[in-house]
Amino acid sequence: MTDELLARHRAVMPSWMSLLYEEPIEIVHAHDRRMTDSQGRTYLDFFAGVLTNSMGYDVAEIGDAVRKQLDTGILHTSTLYLIRSQVELAERIAKLSNIPDAKVFFTNSGSEANDTALMLATQFRRSNQVLAMRNSYHGRSFGTVAITGNRGWSASALSPVKVNYVHGGYRYRSPFRDLSDADYIKACVADLVDVLDTATAGDVACLIAEPIQGVGGFSLPPDGLFRAMKEVLDSYGVLFVSDEVQTGWGRTGEHFWGIDAHGVTPDMMTFAKGLGNGLAVGGVVARGDVLDCFQAQSFSTFGGNPVSMAGATAVLDYIKDHDLQANCAARGSQLISGLRAAESPIVAEVRGKGLMIGVELIKPGTTEPNVPAAARMLEETKKRGLLIGKGGLHGNVLRLGPPMTLTAEEAQEGLDILLDALKATHA
Ligand code: PMP
Repeated sequence: MTDELLARHRAVMPSWMSLLYEEPIEIVHAHDRRMTDSQGRTYLDFFAGVLTNSMGYDVAEIGDAVRKQLDTGILHTSTLYLIRSQVELAERIAKLSNIPDAKVFFTNSGSEANDTALMLATQFRRSNQVLAMRNSYHGRSFGTVAITGNRGWSASALSPVKVNYVHGGYRYRSPFRDLSDADYIKACVADLVDVLDTATAGDVACLIAEPIQGVGGFSLPPDGLFRAMKEVLDSYGVLFVSDEVQTGWGRTGEHFWGIDAHGVTPDMMTFAKGLGNGLAVGGVVARGDVLDCFQAQSFSTFGGNPVSMAGATAVLDYIKDHDLQANCAARGSQLISGLRAAESPIVAEVRGKGLMIGVELIKPGTTEPNVPAAARMLEETKKRGLLIGKGGLHGNVLRLGPPMTLTAEEAQEGLDILLDALKATHA
């Protein structure tokens, strides 16, 4: 069955649509944090569709809210009429954002959200020059490929956006790896000033950054990095965009938004993924004067559609009602300390915050990326009933991003599998 579907997939879909696993799986059912494939095998899910199914699967409250909306018969919307749930969700996100006089615009995805932020910043500042972080991932629309600082993910170099990259994202394999946090921040700030002064033609529109790089391997900058960078940006009049597509909604445990750890208020934040728990929703929350700067009429046929709005509202309620930010902090510490205790010779670094955890795999006794070990870890965990992800420039970083509803028992179950798989991979 799966073989036949895989052959059909390969025949009709693009070759670059990569699938995980030597034998890709087809999920046919999911409940809570478990998924069942077409062969009847059940897995504990530690990747949540790349941090998208943030609440897990088949959550009654969210399903009911979406069904209620479907029952009204309003399946499609446009930019023509008032939508109460859209206004209410925008009010809520604006308030959660701490951005003064914030306004919100909804899109369908993270790429569209970042594209919108780029259009706004370049329009507002009348400049098509932007800054991004090395090793970043912001999407694969025609605008966002240009600000994705990784040769493997940047599908096209022909985008009209003019970009320069600065240090401050991925640290383990950077020239600044062994610096103290304070010196690392100084080095990144010096790099930012250098790029602004010597690599741009002045009048840069914005810097866009992920508070924790997601696809790049859950790379964690020291708290305070972005505050130091923002001071420089302010002095040059450059806007700061925090890409919260992976780090938003309390997943990092400590804060509601990833950028809050750095004590700065961004000019814009972009979001998507976890807000919809699988439904297509994204958006930009920004300073009102920035979001109002377009001289055009509205756009996006499906952005902010009532079905996604109903699901997203139910997700925000669920996060609040079940104190999931605190759960992410507790489950994150449980997993991080358990993984660190393993002291495997192929693990260079276990890093992360809350339920965004990266495990950097190296060849024992070196700092070389261990790409085969990461591939093997995926197979070994799958064999034992656990789904995880991987990322990083070389694909040597294991990525753990379970639903935010993960229980202590499930965390332990996943941890046991990971430790067992690490032993089997190193053997
Ligand atoms: N920004 C970040 C930080 C992401 O991780 C992603 C997706 N992995 C995107 C933007 C793009 O989102 P989408 O795939 O919904 O377009």
